[in-house]
Amino acid sequence: MNNNNETITLIGAGLVGSLLAVLLAKRGFKVEIYERRPDMRRNDISAGRSINLALANRGIEPLVQAGLMDKVSPILTPMKGRMVHDLEGNENFQSYGQKPEEVIYSVSRGDLNKICLDAAEATGLVTIHFDHKCEFVDFDRKELSLKKHQDDSLITAPFERVIGTDGSASAVREAIHQISSKQHDILQLGHSYKELRIPPSESGDFQIDANSLHIWPRGGYMVIALPNEDASFTVTLFMPTSGEVSFDSINDKTSVIDFFKQNFSDMIPLLPDLEVDYFENPTGNLATVKCSPWHHQDIALLLGDAAHAVVPFHGQGMNCGFEDALDLAQTIDSAIGKNGKLVWSEIFSQVDDNRKVNGDAIADMAIENYITMRDSVRDEKFLLRNALAFELENKFPEYFCPRYSMVMFHRLPYSEAKSRGIIQEEILQLLTENISSLNEVDYTAAESLIIEKLNKVKLNP
Ligand SMILES: Cc1cc2nc3c(=O)[nH]c(=O)nc-3n(C[C@H](O)[C@H](O)[C@H](O)COP(=O)(O)OP(=O)(O)OC[C@H]3O[C@@H](n4cnc5c(N)ncnc54)[C@H](O)[C@@H]3O)c2cc1C
Repeated sequence: MNNNNETITLIGAGLVGSLLAVLLAKRGFKVEIYERRPDMRRNDISAGRSINLALANRGIEPLVQAGLMDKVSPILTPMKGRMVHDLEGNENFQSYGQKPEEVIYSVSRGDLNKICLDAAEATGLVTIHFDHKCEFVDFDRKELSLKKHQDDSLITAPFERVIGTDGSASAVREAIHQISSKQHDILQLGHSYKELRIPPSESGDFQIDANSLHIWPRGGYMVIALPNEDASFTVTLFMPTSGEVSFDSINDKTSVIDFFKQNFSDMIPLLPDLEVDYFENPTGNLATVKCSPWHHQDIALLLGDAAHAVVPFHGQGMNCGFEDALDLAQTIDSAIGKNGKLVWSEIFSQVDDNRKVNGDAIADMAIENYITMRDSVRDEKFLLRNALAFELENKFPEYFCPRYSMVMFHRLPYSEAKSRGIIQEEILQLLTENISSLNEVDYTAAESLIIEKLNKVKLNP
């Protein structure tokens, strides 16, 4: 607990901002948050993007540290693996892990955000100014320009230190990069998404397996579905924005129905509101944001999507943002532990150093995982390599952990998961080159390759 009564200003009370507020208040800071939207607990507003999200180990640890898991656990639906639906309507379950605890969880974005907002306010140290959009940050004057939603009036507010948790179109990022910009890349994926819904059955049950993340992989595009607490599924269609098969070309009732009949015929009975959902729900854009620096002197820092928006195919954007928030909190803790003094320029610079490399790594792995999800999951060789990865994890647990598991079930840095993953993939390719089943694997060769190429792995540092 620090005793210096400092106030920290956050822009954005989304998932990362509201959790960060709890972590900072627990350390004795006063927190002022300016949030563009109205209070989602009192207004029926959409939570923004995806209705539900996959929460994994890295996102759970910061929630544990914030003391929120007793509230969050009841709203989680475990997903044990992917259920792959082929063109003929057959289902093939592919487990994500090997141990009972190796699951990810589907959670409502809105409900999780509300829990964090309630917890932040309950500390008595956090004030949230809803309906205040940050338009500009003046670092010299240490002043925010804010537009009030009610009457569009512009006001200013002073700040001492500001953290941008204002998402992928961050105003704080813009302000930092007007001053010092080494990198400011917004890389469009060229694919977009649309949310649809599978309602519960007439008896109120799940219509497809409740404990799977469902995928209909079709090569250049795919549909996924994640379970909700009310036995419905949020369904997301991902496909190119323009081109032959795309949101641009599939743009009237006939083409939508034909497209689903041809590619997802088993889904049609599950999607009674297909046409309404398709035409009324927005088409979301998908992009990766990579920027540097993430901070400005001892004044400003970026965290969450503001620093590193990633495409959603590894289900890690929020998880990574929660890790950022915990990293900042722990960096503050160790600064207090060392000499009791907070040198903010050092704290911000350390968080930037720790997290930027990891933000970049998960951004790259998320793009790769799109191809895995929409295509590779149908490939026999991919399935063989996955099965072998589990075997190698069993036989050489000190060295080998499948990449998906490193990212989703453990907390070693993303950058390490990425670099180990590349070496492991080479090993898996070599061992499966000329074989078609696990029985044919040469485990003596596997052991030599693993010991030669991999260090021991530290999964939860
Ligand atoms: C389709 C889809 C599926 C996804 N699935 C997953 C998943 O399964 N797992 C996962 O971990 N991640 C997932 N993500 C990523 C996840 O949604 C983001 O990483 C996460 O929301 C980032 O949280 P954030 O608080 O940084 O940003 P946001 O959630 O975008 O919150 C930013 C907040 O700032 C406010 N704001 C914005 N601009 C201003 C301003 N100028 N002034 C004041 N307030 C402002 C916004 O209103 C908002 O409340 C998915 C994303 C998409 C698009």
